[in-house]
Amino acid sequence: GTARAATSSGDRTGYPTGAHVRLEGVLKSFPLGQRERLVAVDHVDLELEPGSLTALTGPSGSGKSTLLHLVGAIERADSGSVRVDGHELVGASRARLTRYRRSVGFVFQRFHLLPSLSVLDNVLVPLLPERAERAGAVERARELLDAVGLAAREDALPATLSGGQQQRVAIARALVVRPRLLVADEPTGNLDSRTGRSVLDLLLGLRATHPMTVVLSTHDPLVAAACERTVHILDGRTVAA
Ligand code: ADP
Ligand code: MG
Repeated sequence: GTARAATSSGDRTGYPTGAHVRLEGVLKSFPLGQRERLVAVDHVDLELEPGSLTALTGPSGSGKSTLLHLVGAIERADSGSVRVDGHELVGASRARLTRYRRSVGFVFQRFHLLPSLSVLDNVLVPLLPERAERAGAVERARELLDAVGLAAREDALPATLSGGQQQRVAIARALVVRPRLLVADEPTGNLDSRTGRSVLDLLLGLRATHPMTVVLSTHDPLVAAACERTVHILDGRTVAA
């Protein structure tokens, strides 16, 4: 395929090719009633090489979303180590986690667009208000809308777009922060298989111009097959393929 091993030192253009993510012995549990805890991620070791494309597969409730939330610092692990480019997230300060979280691109199954904002304004959301006001921000948002084929719809409201189009807006929004890491939780899960495939192809194609590490979860074997690597999750643990 088009995949190629990349190094953290960067590609020909001198830009970094993506974040290096390393999980070791990661444990995440949630309270279950008064005394018990449900272990959602159970001592997971996982390495995402810079520039790699990884699919997490596994049944509903196996811990895929929780694992992605740990990688994106939406949740904090109970124990173990989550290092991104050598920086430890477990035990990091709130301020550092907030800064890190803003640097990660996130795509969700249900798009999560703000219904009252135009397509263009939705793409600008991840930029802090003061940064979004800078001229370059709008220019960049427009470039990304062009890249996802929605330049003509920047003034439209999300509800007037198809599911596939809404997910394209969500992808543009995820990329507006120039993420070195893109996390996508079932990005094609709400789309019919053909639309899902086109959204996936878009994501894969964007890696040529926006080098980054990508990790996604999926139920769709065709989506998983299009990724360089599949990691199967069962009961919060990685299972050898
Ligand atoms: P998947 O994405 O593979 O369907 P999840 O990561 O969403 O799996 O869930 C893994 C397990 O953790 C499930 O048993 C789920 O009910 C539980 N879980 C996930 N998030 C929470 C939460 N915020 N509070 C309590 N339990 C949760
Ligand atoms: Mg999930």
